[in-house]
Amino acid sequence: MDNLNLYEVLGVAPDASAEEIKKNYRKLAKEFHPDKNPDAGDKFKEISFAYEVLSDPEKRRIYDRYGLKGLQEGAEGFTDASDFFAQWFPFERASTGRGKRDGKVVIKVELTLEEIYVGGMKKKLEYKRQKLCGKCKGDGGPKEGRESCEACGGAGRATAFTFMGLSPFDATCPACDGRGFTIKEDMKCSPCHGSGFVEEKMKRDIVVERGAPHMLKVPFVNEGHQMRGGEFGDLIVVLAQKEHTLFQRRHANLYMHDLEINITEALCGYRHCFKHLDGRNVCLSTQPGEVLQHNNIKMVRGCGMPDFSQPAICGDLYLKFKVKFPDNDFATAPQLAMLEDILPPREKIIIPKNAEEVQMTDYRPQPRQQPDDEDGQSPHFEGVQCQTA
Ligand SMILES: [Zn+2]
Ligand SMILES: [Zn+2]
Repeated sequence: MDNLNLYEVLGVAPDASAEEIKKNYRKLAKEFHPDKNPDAGDKFKEISFAYEVLSDPEKRRIYDRYGLKGLQEGAEGFTDASDFFAQWFPFERASTGRGKRDGKVVIKVELTLEEIYVGGMKKKLEYKRQKLCGKCKGDGGPKEGRESCEACGGAGRATAFTFMGLSPFDATCPACDGRGFTIKEDMKCSPCHGSGFVEEKMKRDIVVERGAPHMLKVPFVNEGHQMRGGEFGDLIVVLAQKEHTLFQRRHANLYMHDLEINITEALCGYRHCFKHLDGRNVCLSTQPGEVLQHNNIKMVRGCGMPDFSQPAICGDLYLKFKVKFPDNDFATAPQLAMLEDILPPREKIIIPKNAEEVQMTDYRPQPRQQPDDEDGQSPHFEGVQCQTA
């Protein structure tokens, strides 16, 4: 289980597009859904987990770079890693909505960086939770309708197994939800179909906190599922930050990577305006005479995100510049001579006698060969049809 390959679980290649992943997930989820295929519960959980990870660009990146361990141990910014993992760990999340040991309902809400920067926005959430059936009080049917569960032989426990080196835990039998008995078909309570639980539609408003960290978990006590014993679990709203096209965020700091500037801006002065996350226009410029080097990093103090713990204070903005040189033949020979007059002098070289003159060409890395090509198959030419006799 340690080396469970999430791409294989979904039957896609490691470079599959988001669309392919979604398509295959839908197909497999249908095929292995516990309603249709009750014996494939673990397979369904694997599929759900694989999709959970691969459909999220950030988690997919962590998985690609660090594997399952990376998700478990929270590489890159998941400060509360074990907790994070527990939220998304497939076998902690019952797929049927029943038998949740802690009754927790986890809802992920995606927020834009703008929403997090400004804060105060209200989000309306709707979700379903399980509640004990009012008609049978959670029994699922009359006592005389009970029969020992075939799936677990009445033990209420399914085979436990380990995943990624975690210690084994008791898996509740999904067929009887750990009760050890099921209700005879013709005696099942009608509103709950013998499960003892019905669905309840819930609403919850949340207010986005200014500067909320990525994957912040906001708990609402007793707003989760009701459990067999009657007590309620919690609703956990996870605030996930969507990727932004202009900024990257790390805690309260913002980053603009690879800001492209041309050689004139690098040498003769740079001025740039952009819209900040609250809509105000911000303009930056270099000092007179200042040269911006390639890969220079600059900082603007207080121009980052509001600090979650003290929202009146903002972090910093970091900018990294990439100097773009002009294309070939951008100037005539006389113009180049003028330019050379201004620019720093060339390195003086002494050419040794009988030196061999060689040619430089542009280097282009070869595209990697497809695995299919390795076993000697002829290359595929798009649009060329094989002639058939
Ligand atoms: Zn009922
Ligand atoms: Zn059972």
